[in-house]
Amino acid sequence: MTKRDYYEVLEVSRDADGSVIKKAYRRLAIKYHPDKNPGDPEAEEKFKEAAEAYEVLSDPQKRQRYDAYGHAGVDHGGHSGGWTMEDIFAQFGDVFGGGGSPFESFFGGRRSGNGPQRGKHIRIKLKLTLEEIETGVVKKVKLKKEHACSSCHGSGARSSGDVTTCSTCRGSGYVAQIRDTFLGRMQTTSTCPSCNGSGQTIRAVCDTCRGSGVELKESIVQIEIPAGVEDGMQLSMRGQGHAGKKGGPAGDLLIEIQEKEHPIYQRDENDLYMDLVVNFAEAALGVKKVIPTLHSQVSIKIPSGTQSGTIMTLKGKGLPSVRGYGRGNLHVRVKVWTPTKLSAEERALIEKMQEMEGFEPKKSREEKSFFERIKQHFS
Ligand SMILES: [Zn+2]
Ligand SMILES: [Zn+2]
Repeated sequence: MTKRDYYEVLEVSRDADGSVIKKAYRRLAIKYHPDKNPGDPEAEEKFKEAAEAYEVLSDPQKRQRYDAYGHAGVDHGGHSGGWTMEDIFAQFGDVFGGGGSPFESFFGGRRSGNGPQRGKHIRIKLKLTLEEIETGVVKKVKLKKEHACSSCHGSGARSSGDVTTCSTCRGSGYVAQIRDTFLGRMQTTSTCPSCNGSGQTIRAVCDTCRGSGVELKESIVQIEIPAGVEDGMQLSMRGQGHAGKKGGPAGDLLIEIQEKEHPIYQRDENDLYMDLVVNFAEAALGVKKVIPTLHSQVSIKIPSGTQSGTIMTLKGKGLPSVRGYGRGNLHVRVKVWTPTKLSAEERALIEKMQEMEGFEPKKSREEKSFFERIKQHFS
């Protein structure tokens, strides 16, 4: 098979400049891309042919040799004649790069192996008391964090001369495969197994980090917890995770809030509930009680005749909203305590009370019908 003229392949004139050639190649590559022409060997051939032509015409030296000697000038070595899909994707990824190009999806994800890499996130759990949640709190946390290695500045190599381009992926950090599946021809790309996606081979590794490019160091991070956070809520601190690689941004610090059980209060969103135990004399006569709030105390009046189970609500004595507006309430559940052991004197007094009319449960309308029903039930 005779090789077509490269200018003819790219459909450009012999004096076309670099940007015209690049544009022409992009157009053809999109047209004949295997993802758009599944199972079409002719399209694949055209795709490879265009890639080969572009490799020569986009390189000023090769183009000069080609102009002077034709295919004979560039046929030795290189890829000419033996193009694979891997070659094409590896070599010309930059032609397709940049946001919004139709090739982003075809080549999606592939560049992540080679370019700057974001550092890993660090996840921690932080246990807080309700008191801390009420006011918000600053916590200092000791973390083992990956920092860029101080000896090799993240390259992982003993010296800059020890870094070479990976021969498996030619520095792209990925390998591409075309597979025939029942859905048609599919291109898959995966991280280069030789260099783990770095695109580089390191001849001699850094002694400090043993080639990882990072060092674990203990650091203390100051975490500001806003008031009103809830159990299970996640806060994140941008850039406080592990260091990025190759100049990539650091990961985030993700903080899961856990709430410690409180000895007095139960929480329901921003409201708090607590029990207040009074004796039956206090419930009958009324009493003033000092009860604790999270950071101070407050005096409340239990009116005379308060029934067990009554809930008294103290407006605004709950927790602040994490969104910064309003506060919850504190609900005090009154529990009337019944004595369990009685002295002879106490027993005599209570027996006397029992005969008095005021100690019969008061028969409201509902209660009356309740007693009626009980009566009927037993009669
Ligand atoms: Zn190092
Ligand atoms: Zn590689």
